[in-house]
Amino acid sequence: MFENLQDKLNNAFRTLKGKDRISDINVAATTKEVRKALVDADVNFKVAKEITDRIREKALDRKILISVEPGQMFVKIVQEELTELMGGEAKAINTKGDPAVILIAGLQGSGKTTFTGKLAYLLKKQGKQVLLTAADVYRPAAIEQLKVLGEQVGVEVYSEPENKNPVTIAQNAIAHARKIGKKIVIVDTAGRLAVDEAMMQEVEDIKSAVKPSEILFVVDSMTGQDAVNTAKTFNERLNFDGVVLTKLDGDARGGAALSIRQIVDKPIKFISTGEKMEALDSFYPDRMASRILG
Ligand code: GDP
Repeated sequence: MFENLQDKLNNAFRTLKGKDRISDINVAATTKEVRKALVDADVNFKVAKEITDRIREKALDRKILISVEPGQMFVKIVQEELTELMGGEAKAINTKGDPAVILIAGLQGSGKTTFTGKLAYLLKKQGKQVLLTAADVYRPAAIEQLKVLGEQVGVEVYSEPENKNPVTIAQNAIAHARKIGKKIVIVDTAGRLAVDEAMMQEVEDIKSAVKPSEILFVVDSMTGQDAVNTAKTFNERLNFDGVVLTKLDGDARGGAALSIRQIVDKPIKFISTGEKMEALDSFYPDRMASRILG
């Protein structure tokens, strides 16, 4: 994960190693290298500039020039700023409600259905009573896919193959959950290959009808800057609560993970790192920053 960014940042830090004192010029030069590494990793240019301006200011403020280990202190400042950039504290999802409804939205192929199965599995392991709902009325294969995943993780899947109205499917699923004592309903919505009006209207309609306690937007981290743009569009329409970054096991350059919080102002809540049902982690900004720095 993020090997490329990690290499570039380590390269930027190389000049700091083994130095007792680093001159002002070195701080400026190293900061510039850090900025370049971030932009190369697809981090939005404005975001990269803001964070590196802060890094430089902090470095000069803390008088690293006269500190004992200026190199280490510089790296620590970068770590703090990366953590802050990704949202600081980890944010949990809201599972309160009777039942709580978690709405999953995102483009087709983003990993939405896979994540829906993983989340059901995670909540089940926490002892929660979960019902999955297939609200994709366009692709029968999507319903089948969710059923297979549900079976795999031992969670019931509610579907109505003949019903072409996702709003009533979601409402009926909630009624069904109440009847059988399930406390959390996860609704997997339809995805499209690109954002379109009908798709947005449909998810908005489901949102108005079922009043979810949590709306999660799923996005493929490999799509870099596009991931951030898609997140922005979905957020404008849905005002979602959190982001799920998928396919971080691939060679994602990291830009999405680093820019989304700043640009969309919504926390990343989960990261998906594989196709297996276990490959899901809560997102901890500090751990991710450590990982990026290697
Ligand atoms: P949806 O169209 O958004 O529901 O996407 P799917 O859940 O069907 O996922 C699309 C493809 O990406 C499938 O082949 C999944 O197995 C794969 N996939 C989903 N999440 C991940 C992940 O975190 N890592 C990897 N490597 N593949 C994933």
